[in-house]
Amino acid sequence: MTTSEPADTLVIGAGIAGLVLARELVLQGRTVRVLEASDRAGGQIAAIELDGLRLDSGAEAFATRGGTVREYLERIGLADRIIAPRDAPAWLHAAEGQTVPLPAVSLLGIPAAPLAADVVAVVGRRGAWRGLLDALLPGPVGSRLPTVGALVRRRMGDAILEKLVAPVVEGIHSTHPDDLPVTAVPGLVHNLLRENSLGRAVARMRIDAPAGSLVASLDGGMSTLVEALLAELTRFGVAIEYGARVAEVHPDHVVLANDRDDDAEPEVRHGHVVVAAPGLIDPADGSSAVQTATHLALLVLAPDDRLAAAPRGTGVLVARGTAVVARALTHVTAKWVTVQAAADGREVVRLSYERTPTLEQARRDAEALLGVSIPSDRVIAGEVVTWVRASRIAVDDEIPVAGEQVAGTGLAAVIAQARAMAEQLGALNDSDTPTKESIS
Ligand SMILES: Cc1cc2nc3c(=O)[nH]c(=O)nc-3n(C[C@H](O)[C@H](O)[C@H](O)COP(=O)(O)OP(=O)(O)OC[C@H]3O[C@@H](n4cnc5c(N)ncnc54)[C@H](O)[C@@H]3O)c2cc1C
Repeated sequence: MTTSEPADTLVIGAGIAGLVLARELVLQGRTVRVLEASDRAGGQIAAIELDGLRLDSGAEAFATRGGTVREYLERIGLADRIIAPRDAPAWLHAAEGQTVPLPAVSLLGIPAAPLAADVVAVVGRRGAWRGLLDALLPGPVGSRLPTVGALVRRRMGDAILEKLVAPVVEGIHSTHPDDLPVTAVPGLVHNLLRENSLGRAVARMRIDAPAGSLVASLDGGMSTLVEALLAELTRFGVAIEYGARVAEVHPDHVVLANDRDDDAEPEVRHGHVVVAAPGLIDPADGSSAVQTATHLALLVLAPDDRLAAAPRGTGVLVARGTAVVARALTHVTAKWVTVQAAADGREVVRLSYERTPTLEQARRDAEALLGVSIPSDRVIAGEVVTWVRASRIAVDDEIPVAGEQVAGTGLAAVIAQARAMAEQLGALNDSDTPTKESIS
């Protein structure tokens, strides 16, 4: 076996979790080495260039809830790069095929006022009346149900759940509300019990956090965050080894995969190991993680006054059972003024899919969702990007795990957990091997 200079901590994975961990640990005086399987850092935060425009091809925003990410961005000197989305409504391409604005006062599609005209337009009069029952039920009814789907169905009925909430949740969380834990919407149950109504809980939460304030991004895209962290790690002398796919994980060393030469000795790296790579082979039973794919189509379109008027606000979520194949569309130039300025009249749209689309499919879907004809010759550039995401897996109990696999999806959750883990690792005696128990 061949080895390299030992570091006291080995971080596996240079996604946002690994980069944040590496930075925080090096600031505690540790020597850190990051091992990254691919040839770039950032993981699910990435950028591509299309027709000279730099665009996010993975995560494009962060949740502002709790202020975690904002505070971290301030800490690393990016406060003045934070941008808010345009405060325009999102739309819904409903099951019946019509495209309507999402109810003005709603949270994840859960309406504050079930009988409002914009709710009736999507769920019908019967579904809306069933939704009103929520206001008559005692607060605790449904409050102990585990998922958003079960809670909404119990209080507001099937029509509101399937026609309104499901497309929004699927567009935002890539999962049906029946699979989304209520804990993923902090404050929802607390406010339900306080207000004795799910609708009034939503209204209260909306007063506290108006629509446009729920997410933010960075001027230059989310890759700006990766670049800033990489610059700091370089300054602090942290080595990042690219093309280093870890195949075997132990608490105090890892073995790299031997992808090129079967006869070569396996390479080993020593140090206290922290895993920040979703889907890494489970060292306990050798099984690999289940993977799901998300596909994005990015299109740059020729200038068009009808599109410049942002006919569907910042974007459209798509209900199942319509002729449109995309799950959601973001009108990027309508959402982010910085991209609009850089695009200089061109329009950018981003569509997400469960199966690989062709660019022609994406063009047709964009046309249907935006309600504007987009002839093929108006598509200046396009690209389809596929992301394969690993499900959560268990690893050896002695090895600390950071990142999406334990924190849940989303930059806010991942950054908060990586920082908390770094703090707890720092509190341990350097001579101890950190274990999952000691830091949980
Ligand atoms: C299309 C898309 C859009 C998204 N949009 C948003 C959004 O707008 N807002 C939001 O908050 N979140 C969004 N997310 C989710 C968010 O990007 C992720 O939750 C977050 O980036 C995960 O960070 P991570 O560091 O845990 O994992 P990753 O980013 O997956 O990083 C893991 C790293 O580990 C490396 N690695 C894997 N296996 C090994 C190995 N064996 N050895 C060494 N290295 C390895 C990988 O190459 C990768 O670099 C989006 C995700 C996708 C795919």
